[in-house]
Amino acid sequence: MRTAEIASRYLDYFETRGHLVVPSASLISPNPTTLFTIAGMVPFIPYLLGEKTPPRKRMASNQKCVRTLDIDEVGKTTRHGTFFQMLGNFSFGDYFKEEAIHYAWELLTTPQDKGGFGFDPAKLWVTTFTDDEEARSIWRNEGMDPERIQQMGMEDNFWTTGGPGPGGPCSEIYVDRGPQFGKEGGPIADENRYTEIWDLVFENYEVDNVKSKTDLHIVGELANKNIDTGMGLERVAYLLQGKNNIYETDEMYPVIEAAEKLSGRKYGEDADADVRFRVVADHVRSALMIMSDGVRPSNEGRGYVLRRLIRRTEVAMRRLGVTSEVLPYLLPVSKDAMAPNYPELNETFHDISEAAYGEEDAFRRTLEKGTTILDVAVGNAKKAGNVVSGKDAFELHDTYGFPIELTLEMAAEEGVKVDEAKFRELMAEQKSRARADALKKRGNVDVSVYDEIKKSLTAPLEFVGYTTFSTRST
Ligand code: ATP
Repeated sequence: MRTAEIASRYLDYFETRGHLVVPSASLISPNPTTLFTIAGMVPFIPYLLGEKTPPRKRMASNQKCVRTLDIDEVGKTTRHGTFFQMLGNFSFGDYFKEEAIHYAWELLTTPQDKGGFGFDPAKLWVTTFTDDEEARSIWRNEGMDPERIQQMGMEDNFWTTGGPGPGGPCSEIYVDRGPQFGKEGGPIADENRYTEIWDLVFENYEVDNVKSKTDLHIVGELANKNIDTGMGLERVAYLLQGKNNIYETDEMYPVIEAAEKLSGRKYGEDADADVRFRVVADHVRSALMIMSDGVRPSNEGRGYVLRRLIRRTEVAMRRLGVTSEVLPYLLPVSKDAMAPNYPELNETFHDISEAAYGEEDAFRRTLEKGTTILDVAVGNAKKAGNVVSGKDAFELHDTYGFPIELTLEMAAEEGVKVDEAKFRELMAEQKSRARADALKKRGNVDVSVYDEIKKSLTAPLEFVGYTTFSTRST
């Protein structure tokens, strides 16, 4: 089942059960404290908090998400992407635990020819919050083997906003991928073998004093109980498509194939190279989707995340042996794989690709200069304690525009460390030198008084010295 079909099957299922299906909100988070939309519930927060009335009490969506926290996991685990899609069904003061669990179980276990996803019930496991006997009894009534219901505490299975307000227990659903993927014993024993696919959150409490997840105070029951769920589309896709990980699904694998062609190497032959192929598949798609929501590369915030994704793609391809430009080959492939679900890409792609290719060109110039220097520094490090000196890292930054993360990543690839403390010290010294220089340029005097005078003027100053002599008498 293609990824786009899994998404529409999910949304159809909930639409026929009275949910209003809404399009994904932008990746640019409406919440000023996060750069990107990190979960399906983000656009619904005002409804969950009771601040706004939802257009319907039951809603569902397929939300585009970006989690940069997971960037180092990419390619190494089977299940973490920087960009991914979260399917979700929500109830704002309408149905609660019983229906939420029933819908999840029914959709997952109904055979594919009858509209469901056809998971074998014997391979499904769930976790519930330790105190939530009600959830466990609902799962048992649905047909879940009690042996495959595990309990987790506050840290893992209790949701809050991080402050006073709604909160409540969660129940997470996992799929057992089989003994070849790890040890027995359910998700508590091995989260690689047992892949989490869906999280059901039952918001029924009002909480305050949320010092930490394990130290909060339950004020009482909410008048309006909410359901908020999130299912990882890529995770369900790789399991249903019989693949090993999310990067091998129909929306990402074409990029791996294109990278194989460019590099002349084969995916599946070498573990390190495979991580790089997967990083490329993930990052090219994330860059495409982030740009599709209007972000362009820059030195801060979202633009910097995008810049890092493009740079990491370039570096990963270099490590696969490709030194020529790569995005003009990889980006259109990713666009074609994503366009069935995001037809707007066909309109925006021209602008996106121009900006992406320009960014790649600029970075390639930086890389060409810096890589040789880094190679020498890494060679030296291998002879002396396996640490690249802070001075070399600083020179790479200062003279060749190599961001420190890149030096760290490239050095790590070669199995050496970087003296980051010394690098930071040199950076701090450089900053204070720059401040001192700026002061010198102003003649080492406090000229702020002139700035004040300038601010108090009501009309712009005009220089009249070329045409007018001073009439001031001495
Ligand atoms: P994990 O512990 O596996 O990182 P999580 O507990 O952070 O997942 P939730 O925040 O509960 O995940 O998100 C709901 C669902 O979204 C998860 O069950 C999973 O299927 C999916 N998901 C979360 N993070 C990612 C990611 N980085 N890439 C792909 N899918 C994800």
